[in-house]
Parts: sequence; structure tokens; C-alpha cells
Amino acid sequence: MGEFELIERYFKRPARNDSRTVLGLGDDCALLAPAPGMQLAISSDMLVEGRHFLSTVDPARLGHKALAVNLSDLAACGARPLAFTLALALPRADATWLSGFSAGLFALADSHQIELVGGDTTQGPLNICITVLGEVPGTGTQHQALLRGGAHAGDDIYVSGNLGDARLALAVFRGNLSLTTALFELARTRMEQPTPRVALGLALRGVASAAIDVSDGLLGDLGHLLRASQVGAVIETPLASGLLAAAAHPDWAAQGIGTPAQLDYVLAGGDDYELVFTAPAAAAAAVQQAALVSATPVTRIGRVRAAAGIQLLDAQGHELQCNLASFDHFKS
Ligand code: ADP
Ligand code: MG
Repeated sequence: MGEFELIERYFKRPARNDSRTVLGLGDDCALLAPAPGMQLAISSDMLVEGRHFLSTVDPARLGHKALAVNLSDLAACGARPLAFTLALALPRADATWLSGFSAGLFALADSHQIELVGGDTTQGPLNICITVLGEVPGTGTQHQALLRGGAHAGDDIYVSGNLGDARLALAVFRGNLSLTTALFELARTRMEQPTPRVALGLALRGVASAAIDVSDGLLGDLGHLLRASQVGAVIETPLASGLLAAAAHPDWAAQGIGTPAQLDYVLAGGDDYELVFTAPAAAAAAVQQAALVSATPVTRIGRVRAAAGIQLLDAQGHELQCNLASFDHFKS
């Protein structure tokens, strides 16, 4: 199967008639027509075998994840997804792999009503680079995008969904932990098929003061937001942790994995693709409304302070002595 046959068979689809795509895949460029009063939001993410995913991952799940991690960036900006491109390096044209990958990719694309408008295909080590295009209301330097730099001292800090679920699955894959089959499947789905919080991002426009998506762990990504805003934070632990709480059975202690590991997973696990965002206290009701209209759970986890750095408090409000340097071991 040649390059053009491969594109034709697995990636070319009938054009959507409701999209902003004037010209889709097939020519030297795609043409998009942004709506009047809108600005383009653009983001790219690359997934490299061995670095970002295991070689054994189901191709449909990989197709989903490659697009999901990109949509998560649009969500963090409060942008509405429009279209995407796909640059793909493949060791060989494997029909089973390609049909699985494109099925997973297009299932997520369809659920966000977006179209694949172009890309590039080459032979080489498996590498998937997607660029997403989205739109936010704006003219000139005035726009409604959610940025990292807008947090102010006194703002509340919120996170969507649960943190640490993907890290739980990784621990099982690494042989550091065993879970019941049911729990492992849930954690694995969270790791392999994250849900980009696009609807929440849109609902937070005009409500959140700053936002970022959590791809490398809460402390690291919140740290980026705080530095961009020139502020610090007080975080109240324990944090929302649905699967982690369910997984904290006595076996953990027997395996030497107790409460501290749970906190590690929540604070620095990575691959969560949840949104962490800030909002003024006066916007608390609007945040709850945004959570409701987007059907996305949102939990307040602390507040922004003027002094730099992140202070962690335990359930009794005492400062948690926790060596943040230890979180670096997840950044292997
Ligand atoms: P070019 O010579 O300009 O690089 P190609 O011959 O590589 O173009 O690609 C032909 C068409 O197929 C282009 O419209 C390109 O955007 C599209 N395309 C190539 N690879 C992919 C892919 N993996 N996914 C989607 N579109 C692709
Ligand atoms: Mg090309």
C-alpha cells in the first residue's frame, strides 16, 4: 500500500457540511474560514512510541489519545475546536493498526464535530503529531481566551475530575501495584483514553481568571500558571481522588504503597488531562454553573496567594512537610 492509497483509505472522509472548512484534505493546503469576530487558537502535541505510550497500546485508544491531548490544550484556552492536521511517521503500513487508529481518532473527532484537514505521512519510527485549530471570540488584542497569566491573590483554585487515575494504571503496568480487574480497567481507560474538558473550558470563558491543563502533574502545571501570573498558592489536601480512594485497600500497605504514594500520584502523577483553573471568590456560583452546564465535576482545592511557591496543607490545616524535589522521579 503506497502513501496516497493509505491516506485515501484511512484518513480521507466526506467533508462535513457544517464545518468552517472551505477546502479539506487533498490539495497543497487546507482552507479554513474563521467566523467573523473569532481568532484562531492553535496547538500541537507529539506522541512518540516508548516515550508517551507503550508499544502494546490498542491502536484505537492511541488514535483517541493523540487527538485528546491536543483538544485538552484548546480546552485550557477556552477555545472551540474547528479542525486538525495529522503528521504521522509509521514503521510500516499495517492495515489492522491503521484501521484501529483511524477509528479511535475519528470517533473522538466526530464527538467534537471536527474534521481532519491535512497532514503528512512518512515511513519511520512510530510518531504521531497532531495540530488542532480552534476559535475564541476576539478582535485585535482583545480576546476571551483563558490564559495562564490571569490569576490574582485571593482567587480560588479548582480542578476538574480526579487526579492520579492515569498514574495508578502506570504503576500497574510497571509492576509496582496490583488492582482488581475492574479498577485497573477504569484506571487504564483514564490513562489511555483521557476525556478532554472542552465543554468546561468553553463554559469558563469570562468566569475563570487563568487556566492550564494538567498533563505533567498538578504541581508542575499549576506551577506554570502561578509563575505566569506572578503569584503562589495554598493547596488543601487530600485532593479529589476517585479511583485512588477506591484503590486504597489494605494491600497497598502490604506492598509498601500507602498514603504518601496516593498524594504523589494526585500531585505529580501526570497524564490526567484535567483542567486546573482560578476564579475570583465572587465567581464561585458561576464556576458551579459552568460545571453544571458542561456536566463536569469541579472541586475547589485551594487559593491563590501573593507569595510565590506552593504551600500544601493537610486535612487539619497544618503545613504538610513534603519534599517537592521527590516529585522529580516521575519526570523520568
Ligand atoms: P505534500 O506533497 O504537499 O507534502 P502530500 O503528498 O504529503 O502533500 O499529501 C497529500 C495530501 O494528503 C495533502 O493534502 C496532505 O495534507 C494530506 N495528508 C497527507 N498525510 C496525511 C495524514 N496523515 N492525515 C491527513 N492528511 C494527510
Ligand atoms: Mg507531504
